[in-house]
Amino acid sequence: MTKHIFVTGGVVSSLGKGITAASIAMLLRSRGYRVSMQKLDPYLNVDPGTMSPYQHGEVYVTDDGAETDLDLGHYERFAGITCSKASNFTAGRIYSTVLSREREGGYLGGTVQVIPHVTNEVKVSMLALDSKDVDIVINEIGGTVGDIESLPFLEAIRELRQELGFENALSIHLTLIPYIKAAGEMKTKPSQQSVALLREIGIIPDILVCRTERSMEEEHKVKLALFCNVKRDLVFEEKDVENSIYEVPVELAKQGVDKAILRLMGLPEKELEISSWEKMVHTVINPAEGLVNIAVVGKYISLRDAYKSIYEALAHGAIANSVKVCIKMIEAEDIETKAGRELLKDIHGLLIPGGFGDRGVNGKVQAINYARTNRIPFFGICLGMQCAVIEFARNVLGYKDADSTEFNIKTEHPVIDLMEEQRNVTAKGGTMRLGSYPCMLTPGTISEGVYGSEKIDERHRHRYEFNSAFKNDFEKAGLTFAGMSPDGTLVEIVEIKDHPWFAACQFHPEFKSTPLKAHPLFKGFIKAAMTKRDKGD
Ligand code: GLN
Repeated sequence: MTKHIFVTGGVVSSLGKGITAASIAMLLRSRGYRVSMQKLDPYLNVDPGTMSPYQHGEVYVTDDGAETDLDLGHYERFAGITCSKASNFTAGRIYSTVLSREREGGYLGGTVQVIPHVTNEVKVSMLALDSKDVDIVINEIGGTVGDIESLPFLEAIRELRQELGFENALSIHLTLIPYIKAAGEMKTKPSQQSVALLREIGIIPDILVCRTERSMEEEHKVKLALFCNVKRDLVFEEKDVENSIYEVPVELAKQGVDKAILRLMGLPEKELEISSWEKMVHTVINPAEGLVNIAVVGKYISLRDAYKSIYEALAHGAIANSVKVCIKMIEAEDIETKAGRELLKDIHGLLIPGGFGDRGVNGKVQAINYARTNRIPFFGICLGMQCAVIEFARNVLGYKDADSTEFNIKTEHPVIDLMEEQRNVTAKGGTMRLGSYPCMLTPGTISEGVYGSEKIDERHRHRYEFNSAFKNDFEKAGLTFAGMSPDGTLVEIVEIKDHPWFAACQFHPEFKSTPLKAHPLFKGFIKAAMTKRDKGD
């Protein structure tokens, strides 16, 4: 039987529930358990694919083409698991199922209600990952306890705990213990109130994990235990880590969170094997090779979460090279001014991430021009690749108006154009080229070198592509097509030969990078940046 751990959050959002859930998954996996993870989001979008990164952070894409919450990135990176469409449900998706069923006559004669119809569907979603190959599913509930829209999800947890048995359906509540500077005190009251809200709906959490800035005293833990109805030895502290989020599982293991979970679920402890993880964390804290400066020029720079997987993958590339990466986040529109271009002066590498819409595109093109002509390692991803193609067309081929038809429908040189299968698509949600596709690499290219294989599989999320009508022009002028779809029709990677390291891909390699296994392109890019730093080329 598959067991469940429900992770809820209290007091405020942004507590790091995803990282906590992923850390627990990583520890349980390191003790030999087969773990799957799922995020349930109480908002009404069917998935986050249609939301601006400013609203919701990055949209994480799975192998099977789901556009999902960025916490799934933590799940894959920490726990080394592969997520799927069944790993992210929203209230919108659940309501949509219930409403379609109602229209089809699935409830004929009945009144369709939040309880039991919506809550039943929430329970079906929560059990979607159960199988004989999975020992434990961790279900993280988005939002904060007390939100009106979370109620059906909490009710579903309450029912499942009753139906599956308490030892098969744990409740972990992540809460905040704020430090009030003026009083010089840590406060447990908000957590007591948050647990009271959970109790109101019938859930008494088994475990409390307390997010804090400072170390908690024994008296705080005793107080929380008493007033929250949680055993004292099941109140844990999760203090802010100093260097890297990858320290979190190590800190939780020190307190025995994983052991407590297994004890409560009646599962044998088994041995914990996290030596390679600890070694990785040691490298993050003590990088032997100093520092490299990488500029990321994008349009959603002010929100760190908007490029979460990119920043993480850069850190992985750095770990693989025993170096620390200093990321300079630059707003693309700023590059369009002289002062903005100054920001590129001391960089060892430039990365242009994906994006939509024309704001900032010219800044990105200018930044790429700077990297190409100054022989600075360049890595373009999705829109970043499309901008590299536009830059090359404008400045090497001399097609001054070259553009993507996403930005200029009337250009004479549509070097990036809508993909054939996208021409008649009007609906926005879930309609891009999504998920994992194979790609064949050209021998002798940077890409083939770093991957060390000829066939790769990478995740996509785009509507536009390189326009093959211009392929010959580009090839003659020195652009290499380093990766193509197996049928040879879609350009997936472009490179420039006469440059120390210039590679740009149509897919999103950042989604497949993990701290223990950096993505080859990120590892190679950081290495090239180190060479630039040390040798100037
Ligand atoms: N807007 C571009 C397209 O749809 C790039 C998308 C992306 O960067 N993810 O093709």
